[in-house]
Amino acid sequence: MSDTDATTETDHTLRTPIVAVLGHVDHGKTSLLDRIRGSAVTAGESGAITQHIGATAVPLSVISEIAGELVDPTDFDLPGLLFIDTPGHHSFSTLRSRGGALADIAILVVDVNDGFQPQTLEAIDILKRTQTPFIVAANKIDTVPGWNPNENMPVQATMDAQSERVTSDLNQKLYEIIGELSDNGFSADMYWRVQDFQANIGVVPVSAETGEGVPDLLTVMMGLSQRYMKEEMEIDTAGPGVGTVLEVKDTQGFGTTLDAIVYDGTIRADDTIVVGGLQGPIVTDVRALLRPRPLEEIRTEAQFEQVDEVTAADGVKIAAPDLDDAMAGAPIRVVRNREQSEVIAEVEEELAEIEVTTQEEGVVVKADTLGSLEAISSTLAEEEIPIMRAEVGAVAPRDVRVAETANEPTHRAILAFSVEVLDDARDLAEQEDVELFEDDVIYQLVERYDDHVTAIEEAQQ
Ligand code: GDP
Repeated sequence: MSDTDATTETDHTLRTPIVAVLGHVDHGKTSLLDRIRGSAVTAGESGAITQHIGATAVPLSVISEIAGELVDPTDFDLPGLLFIDTPGHHSFSTLRSRGGALADIAILVVDVNDGFQPQTLEAIDILKRTQTPFIVAANKIDTVPGWNPNENMPVQATMDAQSERVTSDLNQKLYEIIGELSDNGFSADMYWRVQDFQANIGVVPVSAETGEGVPDLLTVMMGLSQRYMKEEMEIDTAGPGVGTVLEVKDTQGFGTTLDAIVYDGTIRADDTIVVGGLQGPIVTDVRALLRPRPLEEIRTEAQFEQVDEVTAADGVKIAAPDLDDAMAGAPIRVVRNREQSEVIAEVEEELAEIEVTTQEEGVVVKADTLGSLEAISSTLAEEEIPIMRAEVGAVAPRDVRVAETANEPTHRAILAFSVEVLDDARDLAEQEDVELFEDDVIYQLVERYDDHVTAIEEAQQ
């Protein structure tokens, strides 16, 4: 086959929708993911469920086995669902793709007893900003008295219909969740997909503890995806792979590697790739594509096995030279049958999209990933707090040097999100009177900075 043939070769297919799980701490995100994985392992005794890097693929056959008569596999042509293994909006914002979120659909977990909490609202903000459709999993229903699954499940009612059904404690709590969703503006047009799904947002009562409601949750998600996302799931499997860096880490025997999610095309073991790095695009040749081995084989063999190619949507570990500067959240693009310069330009553009607006005067922000940097910056922008420098990486002395040039006393500050503060930077900050704020929850980080500003303003009066 000549090169020209290779360029025109296409093979269109539907990929797996990518699912993220968000919600307030302790509302049951990890338990729900474990429960879904656990149900899938039990249902798919034939070994249909495979371990991936950073994500778990649950094939349609397994979903239909779990959901029983709720899901008839012949009604669907999407291959299943790919669940991102790390829950929380930190990983959600890290996993960005061109123009938005990597996740095609999200599950917002809300503890029925606890209702909406700060991180629930923060998650909703991020979902709105990235226009990601979502379903609410009203979790921990096993703890609510009067629960009668036959009467209540699933709940996909409008406010009015719902209020007529407030007969039990659980319904009362679900009604409150629906009220909070409405307070957060979920009649907006941009949610047409979710809104069109029967009524308003689908609220599915579940228990990660007992597994009740999990079949309904999977059914609603499969139905939503099939009905409204099918076209977006169409990919060219023969095309060059496109993905996002989930994590940059050392892997024994391979040096610095990338855990990545591929969301379009195919990446092959002999491809040249372009990856977003701290100093700009990195061009490198794949040395190996790695996947976890099945658990029973690990005892005798290496933890990973090498594969020749990985097709979207899937997780993979990429070994290649020169990855030290690669950033979590950065784009990865395969150079195949294309001009390398064109691909570099695309990665540059994509990086520029993420770049945060900085000004002459303002605070310094450091974050562990591009996505979290973007999320913090948008929160600061809402509060009209200017940013002088925004970067991925540990807090270093040069960051303190930048912060101390601020004219406003309130701007002599560094907001460090989930990053290390180097010892000499900490010493210098103390010496130069630059305030350091460290946290791994965005709203807490900003709240602490706000308190500091209030204290300064009060002192000035
Ligand atoms: P995360 O912080 O959102 O990931 O929450 P976890 O999954 O770690 O759950 C927090 C706590 O709630 C744990 O002690 C879980 O065992 C408990 N939990 C989670 N889901 C349920 C549920 O459906 N019912 C009950 N009774 N407890 C739950």
